[in-house]
Amino acid sequence: MSMNWIDEAKRVFRAKKPEHFTEYGHCEECAEHDETLLKS
Ligand SMILES: [Zn+2]
Repeated sequence: MSMNWIDEAKRVFRAKKPEHFTEYGHCEECAEHDETLLKS
């Protein structure tokens, strides 16, 4: 075993991180909520 699992975990985490949390294209309210979650 090596420490490479750390880099692997970071890579997987980035890949799984959603770009959006809501149907941001649905309406203004969804877009605003999505933006709020992305900033948090
Ligand atoms: Zn909506």
